[in-house]
Amino acid sequence: MDDISQLIEADRRHLVHPLHHPDDHQQPLVVVEGRGAMLRDAEGREYIDGLAGLWNVNVGHGRAELAEAAAAQMRRIAFASAYIGATNEPAVRLAQKIVSLAYRNTAVAYFTTAGAESNESAFKFARYFWKIKGKPEKTKIISRTHAYHGVTLAAMSATGMAAYRNMFGPPVPGFIQVAAPYPYRWAGNEEAGIGAANAVEEAILAEGADTVAAVIAEPVMGAGGVIVPPSTYFPRLREICDSHNVLLIADEVITGFGRTGEWFALGRWGVEPDLVSFAKGVTSGYLPLGGVLASRRVHEAIESAPADRRFMHAATYSGHPVCCAVGLRNVEIIESEGLVGRAAEMGRHLLAGLEELRDLPVVGDVRGLGMMCGVELVTDRAAKTPALGLGPRLTRESISRGLLPRVRPGSADPPIGDTICLAPPLMTPPEVLDRIPQILRAAITAATR
Ligand code: PMP
Repeated sequence: MDDISQLIEADRRHLVHPLHHPDDHQQPLVVVEGRGAMLRDAEGREYIDGLAGLWNVNVGHGRAELAEAAAAQMRRIAFASAYIGATNEPAVRLAQKIVSLAYRNTAVAYFTTAGAESNESAFKFARYFWKIKGKPEKTKIISRTHAYHGVTLAAMSATGMAAYRNMFGPPVPGFIQVAAPYPYRWAGNEEAGIGAANAVEEAILAEGADTVAAVIAEPVMGAGGVIVPPSTYFPRLREICDSHNVLLIADEVITGFGRTGEWFALGRWGVEPDLVSFAKGVTSGYLPLGGVLASRRVHEAIESAPADRRFMHAATYSGHPVCCAVGLRNVEIIESEGLVGRAAEMGRHLLAGLEELRDLPVVGDVRGLGMMCGVELVTDRAAKTPALGLGPRLTRESISRGLLPRVRPGSADPPIGDTICLAPPLMTPPEVLDRIPQILRAAITAATR
């Protein structure tokens, strides 16, 4: 196709991509259309969208209702400031709706436009809270190895994968990383959940609890390789945070809005965080939107502050009327179509299919919760030696068979094999889910031949 090759030529000349390297851009995929869980490229080939875009298209592609919600709001008023002293209806309605669906202690929402900005904001909420409480030294943030919290400077400093930091250091001071609750590779003496939670406590004690503002954790690690914690982890982590006066930030950028089979993920373990970061699924990616949910006690700190210590955090697009109108319609779709329960049910179905790949010698671990699953590859099953560098070939073999997965590149230290990440739209029908393990079996076999 002539105009496509011209487009790609112009792309090479004028565009820097996320995670850019020219070697990985020989034959870029040009998606032109999507319906439900399926994508079509410029040459008319069809693919299963194995990662729902970038873990975000929860309601699936091609929803005219969302286009209509955006158009209607744009015609009325596309932009209006939501800075203090002004507001708009979609922002208020969406905040009210999300608060009603989140944790019992959730009081309020603050809107951003992306996941990293949500985490940056959450760090500032935590620091602000402690300053209002008369503890201005509590500023440090603890996160975990393999975490992904975005790549703006402070979010990057919390992200626990070195590859994202190597060329951009030094990180922001005061960001500390500890071991992740990673059952497959846990080497400690204690059970993985308790041991990994205790690692957070050790870091709090080593740094001094008076200097630590918060711990940030994805309920299920996503980009790090779909690492599902043991059920002991979050209850113990909550206890540790409480006993040392440290806030718990749940990074629910992926897990929020139904992905794990709950509206928000920590409910499964009976835990309520102090702050929640969200993005992605709030609009299913139809427009950029994210935010922070704050508990009553954090909200009270903001409400009780004297005017000269006000919450001077902001963004032009906080509470953007069009993004919020689309968010509201999207949440209504998730609710009316029962997609949260469906994610739980269809996630079990997908995981059961993937479990059957365990007979392949290169498959070390298969794990998942709700509609997010991971298949970790090893070169030696007994030694759990990480398989490294398979990603590009495996991705090509999958794409040529009609599945778009994401392979998280592994590392030797800390050890983790290349991991196939799957997080299809929550509405993906079972017959499409059934094709995923079949395609992966053929792709893995071809890629490791
Ligand atoms: N947190 C988590 C858990 C994520 O998965 C991501 C994105 N993959 C982010 C934060 C960053 O979001 P964004 O790319 O929108 O900045």
